[in-house]
Amino acid sequence: MPVHTDLRDGVAVLTLDNPPVNGLGLAIRRELVEALERAQGDSAIRAIVITGGGRVFSGGADIREFNRPESGQAPTLPTVIAEIERSSKPVIVAINGLALGGGLELALGAHYRVAVSDAQVGLPEVKLGILPGAGGTQRLPRAVGLETALNMIVSGAPVAASKLAGTRLFDRVVDADVVTAALVFANEIAQSGAALPRVRDWAIEHDNAEGFLAFSRAAVEAASAHYPAPLKCVDALAAAARLPFDAGIAFERDAFVALVNTPESRALRHAFFGERAAAKVADIGSEVKPRDVRKVGVIGAGTMGGGISMNFLNAGLPVTIVETGQEALDRGIATIRKNYENSVKKGKLSATQVEQRMALLTPTLSYDGLKDADLIIEAVFEDYAVKESVFRQLDTIAKSGAILASNTSTLDVDRIAAFTSRPQDVLGMHFFSPANVMKLLEVVRGAKTAKDVLATALALAKAIRKTAVVSGVCDGFIGNRMLEQYIRQAGFLLDEGALPQQVDRAMENFGFAMGPFRMGDLAGNDIGWAIRKRRYVEKPQMTYSRTADLLCERGRYGQKTGKGWYDYRAGDRAAHPSAEVEALIVQHSRDIELERREIGDEEIVERLVYALVNEGARILEEGVAAKASDIDIVYLAGYGFPPWRGGPMFHADTVGLYNVLGAMRRHARGYQGLAWTPAPLLLLLADAGKSFNA
Ligand code: NAD
Repeated sequence: MPVHTDLRDGVAVLTLDNPPVNGLGLAIRRELVEALERAQGDSAIRAIVITGGGRVFSGGADIREFNRPESGQAPTLPTVIAEIERSSKPVIVAINGLALGGGLELALGAHYRVAVSDAQVGLPEVKLGILPGAGGTQRLPRAVGLETALNMIVSGAPVAASKLAGTRLFDRVVDADVVTAALVFANEIAQSGAALPRVRDWAIEHDNAEGFLAFSRAAVEAASAHYPAPLKCVDALAAAARLPFDAGIAFERDAFVALVNTPESRALRHAFFGERAAAKVADIGSEVKPRDVRKVGVIGAGTMGGGISMNFLNAGLPVTIVETGQEALDRGIATIRKNYENSVKKGKLSATQVEQRMALLTPTLSYDGLKDADLIIEAVFEDYAVKESVFRQLDTIAKSGAILASNTSTLDVDRIAAFTSRPQDVLGMHFFSPANVMKLLEVVRGAKTAKDVLATALALAKAIRKTAVVSGVCDGFIGNRMLEQYIRQAGFLLDEGALPQQVDRAMENFGFAMGPFRMGDLAGNDIGWAIRKRRYVEKPQMTYSRTADLLCERGRYGQKTGKGWYDYRAGDRAAHPSAEVEALIVQHSRDIELERREIGDEEIVERLVYALVNEGARILEEGVAAKASDIDIVYLAGYGFPPWRGGPMFHADTVGLYNVLGAMRRHARGYQGLAWTPAPLLLLLADAGKSFNA
């Protein structure tokens, strides 16, 4: 039974039982209505208490029902709430823990609410591009006031019950057992025989509601470009302030339906579910138990090794970090400390926390320090010879069962695994720079990687708050392999007539956090240069614009050399268009006898984004990514793809694959048209009228 009923001292206690978060699925809704009906007819029952089993009251809608017919099947949540509200016997909700979304809306339908002081309550719907659709926008302002309600609903952020004590939301906020407190309260109420209060009947009081709403609307509008939901939340609160309750509910309903169908909400929900789906791997069920990881080793204290170590220190895991020389080691440790101290300056960490984390870090020059590590992540130079020497040493030193991970960006993880006698324990853990900040972690599954090794990496990703996506072995894995095609198109556009600042502006207007050339300057153009030099030998058929090489030949590596695609000035990180680079690009077009033409922003966006899509389709058909949403999550979490567009594959689905293919065929007739050979999967899906994510 998803709802347990106990009779305690004349009070029916209904306990929601739908782990993990007591989501309000169809079975629970049905059972609640039936239990309420039974209680009405039972003369032994004077009052009803509703509470949550486990540590949560209710996380709201049952996400397993999303996009399934059950989610809309009666009794819907508004019906359940109406039943609670019209109960002839007092209904008291005992909030024992988290009450989010529909969970809080259900509580708002009760006559009384008692909460434990550290319970978090909130209406997070806006984060999925929608608004609370079961009366939340109308009842919450009546209970906590217009301003608090607006802040909660527009931000979606939860608030501790203790902070809302003293509002009409809670009749009591307690530190003791909340069900016991609710039972005491229920008996008092039942004895008093007072008329049952309904939140819907309360007035919203505010000295200047219209002024506050106008101000909020302007502020929210300025802060939420690209997202329609926050403004609709303000409008729904305005409806609560201005209209009778039922008219307000009707407004909320219409706004909800309108928002659910916006591309922005579809994209945000796609990302929400995609992120959860990414953590599930088809052939790894719950029977595969992750290995225990209590001690971590990191090899290399450079750019990546330091940031990688911080992730584990932050999670309370001891890290031993190995370098080849004292100087590099000292530099690496100093950088970690400096990063932490910057967090102290920003008020994100206390000095004590910094010392606690630094105390977990053991710097050493000896591989012996890695003997008892359960996981060792290598972040040394990107070179097979160096990787080989590291992994051969690890093979002799690491304890049996230790997981050996490489942070390589481009090398073959299977070849690295073969440097050891235990390839089943080897995988890639590809962090992104800065590794202590960037959310994405590509977990690279080698041909021989054991299932429990993969499961361990996924579990660890969760522990260090990363978004993990599993990739098969290929050059560049999911993210960088696609990025290469995107960067190639950006280069071809320069040959044909565009300038870096125009390309960047077009991509940033599309919504990327940073255009390709600013990104190159940040990451260092020499990295791509080194990769291209390898490609010129390994894949001579792969063409690139020469402009990036010409740039590097002049030492313009990017921010680190003070000049790259742009000029940089001391003490200022702004990118200034460079006359030297413009001259270089224009001269290059002349050298290859290409007449420069005006290129529109639409073409720039299409070519860069569809280059991602086409390579993404190949990655999908090769099985390097298991599902299209994995690719989208990589781009959302690691490459600054605009969240309201849901990732490249979802974006292509939204445009329609037939249309995407049409555009690609157009581009195929232009300069470097061979780059536009459509992936067979794209042809297949477009022809069948299907989409990547269906
Ligand atoms: P880096 O040059 O900043 O750091 C590498 C460090 O490894 C140096 O401090 C070096 O002294 C040390 N080292 C070299 N050989 C060693 C050995 N045998 N034992 C111990 N330490 C040794 O390089 P990085 O940018 O941190 O890159 C490291 C790895 O991470 C590479 O494989 C790279 O492809 C990958 N990676 C880099 C980025 C990035 O943006 N920089 C992103 C993802 C992955």
